[in-house]
Amino acid sequence: MQVTEKTWGKLIEVDVLIMGTGAAGMGAALRAAGLGADVLMAGKGRLESSGCLGGGNDHYMCVLNTDAPFDTRQDFIEFYLKSTLGYTPGMLGEWFDALEPCLRILEEVGTEFRKNPDGSYYRSVGFGQPGAWWLHIANGQSIKRALAKKIRKAGVSVLDHFQITRLYRDGDRFSGCVGFNVLTGEVSAIRCRTGVMALGFQAVRATNNSTHNPYNVWFSPYNTGSYFVLPFDIGAAVMNVDIYNRATLLPKGWGAPGMNGINNMGGHELNALGERFMGKYDPMMENGKRRNQVAGTVQEQVEGNGPPFYMDMRHFKPEDADYLQNVLMPADKATYGDYRQARGIDFKKAPLEVEVSELSLAGFLHTDDRLETPVRGLYAACNFNTFSGSMSGGYASGRYAAETAHEAPMGQLDEADILAEKARILGPMQVGAQGAMSYDEFEEPIRQVMDYYAKFRRNMPGMELALDKLALIETYENRVRAENLHDLMRTHEAFELLQMCRLHLLACLQRRETGRGMYHLADYPALDPKLGKALVMRKVDNEVRYGWGVLPD
Ligand SMILES: Cc1cc2nc3c(=O)[nH]c(=O)nc-3n(C[C@H](O)[C@H](O)[C@H](O)COP(=O)(O)OP(=O)(O)OC[C@H]3O[C@@H](n4cnc5c(N)ncnc54)[C@H](O)[C@@H]3O)c2cc1C
Repeated sequence: MQVTEKTWGKLIEVDVLIMGTGAAGMGAALRAAGLGADVLMAGKGRLESSGCLGGGNDHYMCVLNTDAPFDTRQDFIEFYLKSTLGYTPGMLGEWFDALEPCLRILEEVGTEFRKNPDGSYYRSVGFGQPGAWWLHIANGQSIKRALAKKIRKAGVSVLDHFQITRLYRDGDRFSGCVGFNVLTGEVSAIRCRTGVMALGFQAVRATNNSTHNPYNVWFSPYNTGSYFVLPFDIGAAVMNVDIYNRATLLPKGWGAPGMNGINNMGGHELNALGERFMGKYDPMMENGKRRNQVAGTVQEQVEGNGPPFYMDMRHFKPEDADYLQNVLMPADKATYGDYRQARGIDFKKAPLEVEVSELSLAGFLHTDDRLETPVRGLYAACNFNTFSGSMSGGYASGRYAAETAHEAPMGQLDEADILAEKARILGPMQVGAQGAMSYDEFEEPIRQVMDYYAKFRRNMPGMELALDKLALIETYENRVRAENLHDLMRTHEAFELLQMCRLHLLACLQRRETGRGMYHLADYPALDPKLGKALVMRKVDNEVRYGWGVLPD
């Protein structure tokens, strides 16, 4: 890596640029560095604690290719191919092939997987999957720090606290990015031979949960859509931003779910009338698809059967209740003990009150089987979900980014573009106090619009209106004033959130059916078998184009 001081900031040159320092970025960095590449990871937080894994994870999904039921490569590929998300066997093969190496890395850095008395992995079935694919983790809170140590030792350069605000291409190739240090305000431009996009597939803060605190949410609240909005701007295509919205059940008022452990160990969901109702919505009851549990709970709520809703674990054996309460739940987030104490929660004595979470926006980037986007040299690391999917997606894309970097030219960045982006980045710091608004005065109306017109129950005219309202909010962009660098970071996150919501609504307006996403459309209440395809969106000549299952020209 080379760094040159310029009048406008730093120009950094590196072979492989990994954007994002979460689980996906880490998988990519370890693989690319293992192949001898010159690698830089850049991310808004600190490598040791950033992203969803920073708080902790309690399960790792891994198909081990044993003779246990549904435990082979084919079982894994067949399961994910059934979705309409547009995966190919090639992509899923990349995920599968990375599972085992990533498991070894996790063990090497000290991740404690629960074992059976015979020394084999303890595993459970989850989320409607056919096999017992979920390994349990006891020390989830420390994984990120342990992996970070390995990455720093491997000689990977790390640019912490760096918020990426724009990507660039040089002809049809990815050439680099510009961003700023959120602690010092210094602007840097990074040029590279290849890039790995690992900015997190779940965009949060689009809607509220019952706390109306946009930072007390399921996934990392600092992702507001960079994974989609930034590549989309340079001609990469996004897909599934209509149907891959995400929600879960949360312990009431506490923004981390733990639902995998609760469901796979046999928790019963009850409505306010004390009825166990999930049989109406999924043949596997609570341990079926996450979408069905959310949709089922929302439906019960619409019918007035709740809130409150509960997860009942009173029938558990004492040692199971104890394990869930004291090992798995805190492995996801350190504050579980405080929450439990404050609410007097004891799984053996009383059911746990839960609520439907905020609705997050998510999706994929369109890629070929080698995870390369239509912008050559730019690879997608966050197209597979779960901790395992992210780390594996990174691991696979890190390989291709490193291999391609050998032949790829160094990307060129135009100094005029860098200066223009610097002015845009710092613009909110120059807005005068008169008539100004803060980033949250700008952002809160976005959630209001999405909550009101585009949450779990919606219709086409409502979504059209939501787009108009977003356009109105956007006209206030030049009045947002950042008084300090923290405000500046939040301001750019908020601007991006607006673009992410727009992408989501534009995509949803194309899909005239109900049943593949988390939401119900009143004007198209049934599934349309003809729409069993991923919707791909791309910007060409400043116009958004759509393709069903194909990349639009
Ligand atoms: C509390 C919690 C518990 C969970 N438990 C489990 C579990 O037990 N098992 C499981 O399989 N999954 C679990 N998950 C989900 C799993 O952790 C995630 O799917 C996975 O870690 C996502 O990794 P990622 O790298 O794709 O994205 P992220 O972790 O979101 O990382 C994205 C990174 O990009 C950075 N970034 C974003 N935008 C920018 C920008 N513009 N500029 C610079 N940097 C930026 C972010 O700061 C972040 O570091 C859990 C999630 C949470 C939040």
